[in-house]
Amino acid sequence: MKISHQHARFMKKLLICLDFDGTLFDTGRVIFSFPEIVQWGKGGFSKVLEEYYEFSKDEFLPEKFSGFLKAEKSFSVESADRLASRFTEVRERAPELVFEDALFFINQFPKGMLAILTRAHPDWQEGNISASGLRQYFSKVFIVKGKNGKRDVLEKLSVQYGHIIFIDDSPKEIDQVLGVKGVKAILLNRQGVIGRVGPKDLREVLSQVKELLGFG
Ligand SMILES: [Mg+2]
Repeated sequence: MKISHQHARFMKKLLICLDFDGTLFDTGRVIFSFPEIVQWGKGGFSKVLEEYYEFSKDEFLPEKFSGFLKAEKSFSVESADRLASRFTEVRERAPELVFEDALFFINQFPKGMLAILTRAHPDWQEGNISASGLRQYFSKVFIVKGKNGKRDVLEKLSVQYGHIIFIDDSPKEIDQVLGVKGVKAILLNRQGVIGRVGPKDLREVLSQVKELLGFG
């Protein structure tokens, strides 16, 4: 059953904020086909990314990442530029990278109830969101920077909305927003992160949300 305005009074005050990469959009499907990144493995790539954030003091941008690889990872100019250019594939293949369960989920709610809340570089992420075709389903898009970026937005929104549901596939991002008044944070545990409990896809999240909203 599609959520309607049946619970209009409650709904008016509800906002569902969804993370983008790994939650709505399967960035990993493309990135982990790049030979350089496959070589690092998932854990290795996360480490390299953390070093990149430390180095650049900024969110991810392919050109900046390439600069970091040349300066800190002894990549040659050619191989660093080659890797940076591979990231254009994310944009080119964007429509097919939308998770099937993501479309299913967002189709259950009116646009006014849905927001994207992503931590990223706007120069990179705005293009990805548009290319994915998802922009039309959301009334708001927040592209934030820094460790506290999502928390800051949720704190501001919590003044306006009585209930906020925040869905993210990163345990770190979930932990970062714990305790914000009126915010229910749900870890989407697609990867089955050990030691963490959370629904494995957005269909399971929908059941939880319906329960929270008092639907059967
Ligand atoms: Mg994510």
